[in-house]
Amino acid sequence: METTLVLDKLKELQDVLAEKYRYEELIRHAPQQLTAQEELLARLKKEYIEKSADCDEVKEKVRKLKAELFEAESAKERGEKGMDDISSHREFEILDKEIKDAKDMEIRIRRDLQREEKQLAELNETLNSEEQLIKSQEEELNAGKESLASEIESYNAKIVELAERETQITTGIDEEVVFKFERIMKSERIINSKQSQGIVAVKGNVCEGCHMILPAQFANEVRSGNKIVFCPYCSRILYYQELETGEAEYFQAVDTGSLADFDNDLSDFEADDEEGGVEVMEEDVAGIEFEE
Ligand SMILES: [Zn+2]
Repeated sequence: METTLVLDKLKELQDVLAEKYRYEELIRHAPQQLTAQEELLARLKKEYIEKSADCDEVKEKVRKLKAELFEAESAKERGEKGMDDISSHREFEILDKEIKDAKDMEIRIRRDLQREEKQLAELNETLNSEEQLIKSQEEELNAGKESLASEIESYNAKIVELAERETQITTGIDEEVVFKFERIMKSERIINSKQSQGIVAVKGNVCEGCHMILPAQFANEVRSGNKIVFCPYCSRILYYQELETGEAEYFQAVDTGSLADFDNDLSDFEADDEEGGVEVMEEDVAGIEFEE
């Protein structure tokens, strides 16, 4: 296959792969859409369990207070009945005090009971409304899961479609070229999710992908179009593009200073900042966060 044809096919492949990887990313990040809802539901359930325990405690207090109230009332009644059988003032005084104490006790218990029953009613109300909230959150989450599943299904269908086009385009192209191309497209996806580029132009000896100046000899090789050439810095596949007027003057100015002392042995080359105005290739890919 002619090199120019391969380059054209790779440009087409670039768009297909960028789209395919985009869908793969969407699938990978999809479950995160529901994280907030899942966390909220877990928190609500935890709170509900805690409040239920509080409610049980108050119920137990109410039960005890009711038993105490019954005791106090009985004591009071016993005292009042006893009044019929007293035979001395001394007996009267003792019994009268017992009745008074029982009445005081009854008042105190009724007051406590009222307080605890009020709290119990409030807790029950809260529990009811929280139960409703949990139920509606669960319904919402389930609906979210369903729509997410159909979303993912549609993404997968797109991926299958794109993979078919990928096979069509790459048929007849050197496998190693395709392999390297897809690898750089994949790492591109991490550096810049918005614009994946695996094939870029060389303009005035500068790689448009990483903005590094290429050795003149190397740029000439790209221009000749005899074979597939990879950028020695960013590994992207290169094609030649003529400069437009205005651009040419800029690149000539850049050329004069820096290329004279360029080392031909590319493996020893280290990027430095001395080539004024030229960006150094992005480094530390792992440290860059993927932005959605
Ligand atoms: Zn490059």
